[in-house]
Amino acid sequence: MQTSDVVIIGAGLSGLRAAQLLGQRGWHVIVLDRHAEVGGRLASRNVDGYVIDEGFQLVNPSYPELRATKVLETVELRPFEASLLTLTNGRRQLFSDPRASLRGALSPFVRGGLSFSDARRLGSLGFRCGFAPIRGILRRPDESTWEGFAHTGISPRAMNDVVRPFLRGTLLDDQLESSWHFTQLVLRSFVRGRPGTFADGVVALPRAMARQLDSTVLKLDEEVISVTPTRVVTNRDEYESRAVVLATDATDAARLGTDTTVAWRAQTTWWIAAPKIVASPILHIDLDEPLLTSVLDVSAVARERAPTNASLVAAPAVGALHERSLDARVLESVARTYDVATSELSIIERTVVERALPATPPPLRLNRPQRRGEIFLAGDYLQTPSIQGALVSGRRAAQAILAALT
Ligand SMILES: Cc1cc2nc3c(=O)[nH]c(=O)nc-3n(C[C@H](O)[C@H](O)[C@H](O)COP(=O)(O)OP(=O)(O)OC[C@H]3O[C@@H](n4cnc5c(N)ncnc54)[C@H](O)[C@@H]3O)c2cc1C
Repeated sequence: MQTSDVVIIGAGLSGLRAAQLLGQRGWHVIVLDRHAEVGGRLASRNVDGYVIDEGFQLVNPSYPELRATKVLETVELRPFEASLLTLTNGRRQLFSDPRASLRGALSPFVRGGLSFSDARRLGSLGFRCGFAPIRGILRRPDESTWEGFAHTGISPRAMNDVVRPFLRGTLLDDQLESSWHFTQLVLRSFVRGRPGTFADGVVALPRAMARQLDSTVLKLDEEVISVTPTRVVTNRDEYESRAVVLATDATDAARLGTDTTVAWRAQTTWWIAAPKIVASPILHIDLDEPLLTSVLDVSAVARERAPTNASLVAAPAVGALHERSLDARVLESVARTYDVATSELSIIERTVVERALPATPPPLRLNRPQRRGEIFLAGDYLQTPSIQGALVSGRRAAQAILAALT
């Protein structure tokens, strides 16, 4: 039997954030995770010299709660360019970073046949989401993202040609049924920051957070089997504490006896070895291949993630896609995107993440209760399905404990 002030179940971002804040207040914390590595859904591994992530994702440095952790001061985020290149019928259209030049950013809309009013509406939506107070975004009743865009007056054509292709990969939601409030918060983070990745893969973020935990004991490779408000039993040991935080995803929390259920959105990513591509750190969208949400040369910003003279390309898609027959379509799209022959490409691995993001139908419910009975909860499903949401939930769990027990 081991004792501590708090036991946290789950070393994902939510659990690590709770541990960070409780540790800073001098509490003795034990964090348990069934995996051998911290990070939960932020996981990476080396496959034959290529560092792939367990599901493609980007880290946005503008997330307020991420900034509050100060972790990005200790690990170098490598940002992608905030530009987008679409490919359709062999024609390439570059949408440049509007912060660099609004004119440059809007010109393809106009030249691409989209009306000036669509370009103007998208610009003013971006400005409002990026710079208006958040309470302004949340004040109006929530609706689906599709409806929210429609109410801005953006035409269905612009929705189908520009908005949906860009957003469906972020929301993992082809129909844009997700909360409009949440989407506007996502747009806010895009306007305010340039998302990126790390030389060691996305796991570098939770690893850096774990290094900040001075007085916390991390116990990995240990699975929790049962929980009460003051007692945790694992496959190796038993723990007694003043409080327990259940910082797992909603499905695992339900397995441990809470009434937390969510619907999940899944993601599949093809990780592809390519010949060294002329460094191209921008997001590509092949509009002729709707299977993929985007194609990205990860090694363009993180050279270390591929062997010398090779590139690592990520090609993510919405859903859990297991059919082998899709491989050929993916290779053709990546070949088209970078103007290389399919024979020069090879699939390193396909990662299928069934439980990637908890669905966020409207109305968005921020600040769900952080307790079930006497057990404290943390996890992105209590806030928003994002790094920001997970970190906020961890902070709120720590605050709830401090309020209840001091
Ligand atoms: C494919 C994919 C793409 C994404 N893209 C983005 C993106 O681009 N931007 C963004 O902001 N967010 C993105 N996200 C979301 C983000 O990764 C998550 O919101 C966040 O990591 C969730 O953290 P968490 O702590 O809430 O949960 P988790 O990371 O799921 O952590 C829960 C932890 O609990 C542990 N656990 C569960 N049960 C037990 C048990 N019985 N005993 C011990 N340990 C247990 C698990 O091993 C895990 O480590 C993406 C996620 C995925 C999967």
